[in-house]
Amino acid sequence: MFICESCGNTREELLTYKESRGNFPDGNNSEMVTDCECSCGGNYVEATKCLSCGDWFNDSDNLGGICSSCFDKFADFENALDYGEEEKGNIHINGFLASQFTEIQINEILKRELVEAHILMPLEIDNGARKFCRDNDRNFSKWLREQSKLL
Ligand SMILES: [Zn+2]
Ligand SMILES: [Zn+2]
Repeated sequence: MFICESCGNTREELLTYKESRGNFPDGNNSEMVTDCECSCGGNYVEATKCLSCGDWFNDSDNLGGICSSCFDKFADFENALDYGEEEKGNIHINGFLASQFTEIQINEILKRELVEAHILMPLEIDNGARKFCRDNDRNFSKWLREQSKLL
C-alpha cells in the first residue's frame, strides 16, 4: 500500500507506464516508470497499517508498527513505568547504598521520587516517558501487544 505524503490518499498499487527515453544499448527505446505523483501534487510513499487504529500511515513514521499519534497515546507515564520493568537499565551507585538496599527496594525508592516529580513537573516527566518509549519503539510496541493493550 502507498500513501500520499500531502493529502493522505491511499493507493494499492502505483501506476506504471512506458516512457520513451531515446535509444538504450540493448535496443529498447523505452522503460517502465513508476508514477509516484498524487493528483494533489504530493508524492506517494510506502504505507504501513497501524496496529492500533488500523489506518495507513507513512512508513517513515513507523514506530514498531504503530502510527505516531497512537504511539504517543500509549507512551505515557504509567505505561513507561510498567514497560521499564522489562527494559532494564544499568547504573553505578554508591557502593554503601547498594549494600544497604535490595534491587527491589532501590526501584521502589526511585519510583516514589519519580511519582512525586511527576506531580510537580508533569510535562517534563511525560516528555521523558514518551522519549523512553520512542527510543525503544519496537520493544515497546511488542510489549503493548503482549499486554493486549492494542485494539
Ligand atoms: Zn495527495
Ligand atoms: Zn494509529
